[in-house]
Amino acid sequence: MSRKKILVVSAHPEPRSLTAALAAFAVEELRASGHEVRVSDLYAMKWKATVDADDFPDLAGDRPLDVLHAQERATLAGALTADVVAEQEKVRWADALILQFPLWWFSVPAILKGWVDRVFTNGFAYGPAVPPPYTEGALGGRRALLSVTFGARESAFSDRGAHGPLADVLFPLQHGLFWFTGMAALEPFAVPGTVDVPAERFEAAKRDYRRRLAGLFTDDPVPFRPLSTDYDHDMRLLPGLERPGADGLGLHVR
Ligand SMILES: Cc1cc2nc3c(=O)[nH]c(=O)nc-3n(C[C@H](O)[C@H](O)[C@H](O)COP(=O)(O)OP(=O)(O)OC[C@H]3O[C@@H](n4cnc5c(N)ncnc54)[C@H](O)[C@@H]3O)c2cc1C
Repeated sequence: MSRKKILVVSAHPEPRSLTAALAAFAVEELRASGHEVRVSDLYAMKWKATVDADDFPDLAGDRPLDVLHAQERATLAGALTADVVAEQEKVRWADALILQFPLWWFSVPAILKGWVDRVFTNGFAYGPAVPPPYTEGALGGRRALLSVTFGARESAFSDRGAHGPLADVLFPLQHGLFWFTGMAALEPFAVPGTVDVPAERFEAAKRDYRRRLAGLFTDDPVPFRPLSTDYDHDMRLLPGLERPGADGLGLHVR
């Protein structure tokens, strides 16, 4: 396979954690396969997790902070802070993104949510200054993989599981972040039951992860629907296209 560029974003406060071990494994595997890899280890970088007025030093102090428009203005004027610019450059550089994180309260750790909030700005990842979302999204041409660990058993995140299907839990990232910005979202890679992971299960997880990393550029992405053909002007699914599927009524996947 041709040499590709991959950004691994990792979010865990403990460098000896399972999450850190999986991130290191991914980096090693991808480099061994000849790819170029860059890493954003958010805790190690002491990533600033919240958007606030400090993100817009050019904004007049007496003006109310309207984040949506402040981000757009700063993005288009080249006035974003250096940490955000550096991460945007990595995303732009990458052919694929991997987000490695533990599931915390059915979502990503706050530091990773803050990376998304601050890096995927209006004018960079979406908004009037860039192509429309979904099908033609601003970050199109890239692939994206969630690599998640969670304490619950796999069955608890299944179709009849108490926590709901994993695809539903991760929908905000898969559809709301990746697909919205034009990236092709792959099926997530998950390591469940992480309260205790004996060595043999860790080895099995690495074998599964190796397969998924090998398919990063060849596996079929989740077939989310194109905005241009499947939805009307009000962004509602056109009649007759619903089909029971992975997301219940098949409103989002073909
Ligand atoms: C705030 C919070 C919210 C949470 N919310 C949810 C939730 O909504 N749903 C849910 O299911 N779970 C939830 N959890 C559980 C959480 O998802 C798991 O604790 C997490 O996924 C474990 O990943 P970790 O990297 O922190 O593992 P670690 O705690 O570092 O390790 C887990 C196990 O993996 C093994 N291990 C650790 N390091 C290594 C290594 N380097 N090499 C090999 N094996 C290793 C050990 O057996 C260890 O006990 C939550 C936890 C917290 C703290």
